[in-house]
This record gives sequence, C-alpha cells and structure tokens, in this order.
Amino acid sequence: MITTNQIVNSKTIFTRQQDYFRSGATLPIDARKKTLRKLRTLLQDHETVLNEAIYKDLRKSSFETYATEIGLIFDEINVQLKSIKKWSRRTRVPTNMANIPGSSYIQPHPYGVSLVLGAWNYPYQLSLAPAIDALAAGNTVILKPSEIAPHSSNALAKLINEHFPKELFTVIEGDVDVASELLELPWDKIFFTGSPRVGKIVMKAAAEHLSDVTLELGGKSPALISDALSMDVAAKRIIWGKFTNCGQTCIAPDYALVHESVMDEMLLKFKEQIDEMYQSGQADEEYGRIINEEHFDRLVGYLNQGNIYTGGHHERADLWIEPTILTEVDESASVMQEEIFGPILPVIPFSNWDEALEKVRSKPHPLATYVFSNRKSEQNKASDELQFGGMTINDTMQHIANPNLPFGGVGNSGIGSYHGKWGFDAFSHYKSVQKKATWMDVPLKYPPYTSWKEKI
Ligand code: NAD
Repeated sequence: MITTNQIVNSKTIFTRQQDYFRSGATLPIDARKKTLRKLRTLLQDHETVLNEAIYKDLRKSSFETYATEIGLIFDEINVQLKSIKKWSRRTRVPTNMANIPGSSYIQPHPYGVSLVLGAWNYPYQLSLAPAIDALAAGNTVILKPSEIAPHSSNALAKLINEHFPKELFTVIEGDVDVASELLELPWDKIFFTGSPRVGKIVMKAAAEHLSDVTLELGGKSPALISDALSMDVAAKRIIWGKFTNCGQTCIAPDYALVHESVMDEMLLKFKEQIDEMYQSGQADEEYGRIINEEHFDRLVGYLNQGNIYTGGHHERADLWIEPTILTEVDESASVMQEEIFGPILPVIPFSNWDEALEKVRSKPHPLATYVFSNRKSEQNKASDELQFGGMTINDTMQHIANPNLPFGGVGNSGIGSYHGKWGFDAFSHYKSVQKKATWMDVPLKYPPYTSWKEKI
C-alpha cells in the first residue's frame, strides 16, 4: 500500500534528480567512473549480506548468486569503466556537398532522469545492470526493484541509499501502487524488465510524456534439438539452462522440440542429467525454490497437462517443485501457450527441421532460441529465418554472458537492448551536429528564388 509520504518523497527525489542532472554534474567522465568504482567496492564489501537476502527470497546458493548475479554485475561495471571515455567521444562523420565547407559529428548525451523497474527472478542483476549502464552514460537513476523478492529489494535499498546521494542514484521500494505512481512522472528514460502484460502498461505511461523506453520482456524460448548432435552434451546444457534458478529465468529453454528419431534417447539423457545434477532431491542445496505460493500454484496447475516422464513431486510448504519433464503435451494447453517460468520442461517431437521452425514461428517472437545441431545448414536456417532476441547454438543462455552481444527481445519479448555498448546506447541520445564555416556563403538557398536559381 502506497503512503502519501512515499508519493511526496518520490516526487521530491525526482525533482532533485532533475536539478542535479541539469547542473551538468553527471557529465564529466571521471565523475561517472567514480560512481561505478564506488558501486563495485560496495558490492564486494557487502556480498555476504546480499547472498543472505537472496537466499531468503529464492534459496539461491552463493555459487549460483555469484555466477548469475554478482559476477555479471562486476562484468558490466568493468566493461563500462573500460569504455565510457571512448563511447562518450564525438564521432566525426563525412560532410556532404550541401554542407561544405563544414564538419559533422555525432555526440552521445545522457537522456537525464531515468527510472529502472526490476523483476524478481534475478533481483540484483536485473536491477543493477541497467542502473550501471544508466550511470555510465551520465544519467541519474531511481531504481524500483520488484516487491516479489522483498529481502533482495531491501538489501539493495539499504546499500544504495546509505552510500549514494539521492540526487544521483536511489532505490525506492514498493509494489504495483508505487510503480504506478512512479510511472506518472515525466521520465527522460524508462527501463523496464518484466512481463509483456506490464510492459504494455509501462509503454502507455511512457507515451504520456514521450519518455524513451526500453522493455526487457519474456516469452516462450524454445530449444530445437536435431538428430545430428552430441546428445550427452545437449542434455547436460539444456537441463542446466532449464533448472538453474528453478526455471525462473527469462531466457531458460521454456520447451524442447526434439527430432522424433532421437526422442526416446533424449528423454533418457534428460533424466540421467537431472538425476546427476540434483541427486539429493528436495534436500538439494544447489536447487532453488519457487518465489511464492501464487507462482507455485500456477506451476502445479501445469503438471496434469501432459504425461510426467520424470519429476512432478512438489511440496507447497517448502515451495519446492521437482525438476519435471512433460511429454504428450497438447500444444493448445496453457503450458504450451503461456511462459512457464518454472521447473517444468514440455518435450515435443517433430519430424523435420522446417516443421520445427514453423512451430517456433507460430508463437510470438521469443526472447531466446536454442539450436542443438552439428549441421551447419540447420544452425544457419534457424538463425537466418527465425525472429528472436538472442540465440545460443549448442548451449543455453550463454549469449547473455558475452558483453559484446546486445541483450534484448523483439516484439512480444521486448523493445531495445542493453549490456556493454548497447547498455550505454540505451541510456544515450545521439545528437547530430553540423558545423558550418562562415567564410563562404552559397546564396542559392535564400529567397527570392529568382529564375536563374530555379534553372540550377
Ligand atoms: P512483472 O511484469 O509482474 O513485474 C515487473 C515490475 O513491474 C515489478 O517491479 C513490479 O512491481 C512492476 N509492476 C507489476 N505490475 C505493475 C503494474 N500493473 N503497473 C506498473 N508496474 C507494475 O514481472 P515479474 O513477475 O517480476 O517477472 C517475470 C517476467 O519478467 C517474465 O515474463 C520474464 O520472462 C520477464 N523477465 C524478462 C527479463 C529480460 O531480461 N528480458 C528478465 C527477467 C524476467
């Protein structure tokens, strides 16, 4: 529930950030670097507190937290620190005939006051990576992490609010009401991570003030498994990608399409890998939990929409759902229509590669697509012909870990991208500057347009 104080508070901070940005204080590169270095030190010094908080929300082990959250945040800080100076420079471009004598350049400029709305499934990475890009590009940031991961949200708020000036970088905690209030403000930039449903709400709010917007959304990311592949490696990498964070990953393989000739063997390999990776079942410290009862109930509802090949056990009191493989799933069932976002993998056979591609094309554009095939022709056909945010061939999720690749979706899975240079660009407007010399002035463009001018 939002309080009047919170509304006044967020408006006051917004105005302070506007004033701070307009003062030019965020423009010097050294100031931006200082902010990023300070954030890096803070995260290093408070890693234990952050680990404890996320464990309470998602039961994430500290290894997984480092590998999928903190480590990626350090990478993002380091990439930005290394390149801010270069990326902030003017880029000279050729000058066309009509502007000679003169020179021309393009210059990035921070948008201004930015709002970052985070999702709960990777509560640190999805909040801080965009904030880092925003600060690197010279913006101020108000960050609202997701209320669905309250311990992580609170740990972030304490860390940031105790150590950064509010006019530069602050965290406002809260639920949908707080998000809605924030969205009424005239932001220069809104960066949203979450569901396509809320993405539409955010975009409507952004339209009201013509705020620039980046939407990082979700969807059903397929894994296409050909008959030409190393089955052990494919099974290991798909099971890892699917069940990391209990399947609550925007780029987890949502469902698997398997060539019918290798279907039986692939299912066996999947089961072998689940047994190998999550040997201790419910007691497994390496396996997370579903975020809350609402999502738990939604996921359990999918379990009777197919044949449970392996898994299916669950316990509501512990928010635990066993890694589960579903077969014989009707493609019109909700488990094949909605983003699963949990530890359930429907496996569906196909008879030829074109049919598999057509199945993917029949759904909204996914955030990620995975191809497992040693045939170049199949790899290329999928990457050339399908529309998706990003792709990893012969593995899952790895494209997110390369800062030289933009990360983002298309259509239903998002608008815009970030990470590395793309993150810097997401928070920068590129100004066009045309400089003209004054020692020469072509009279042609000025009225009156007498007949000799028209003839030219
Ligand atoms: P969500 O859309 O419910 O919430 C995201 C944020 O929006 C939260 O901060 C929440 O407080 C706020 N919000 C919720 N309802 C709102 C409303 N009516 N008005 C204004 N703000 C509102 O998403 P979620 O459940 O936190 O995350 C799951 C979704 O996010 C999945 O679809 C997943 O695929 C997607 N996701 C995408 C990425 C990516 O990088 N593309 C990463 C993680 C998650």
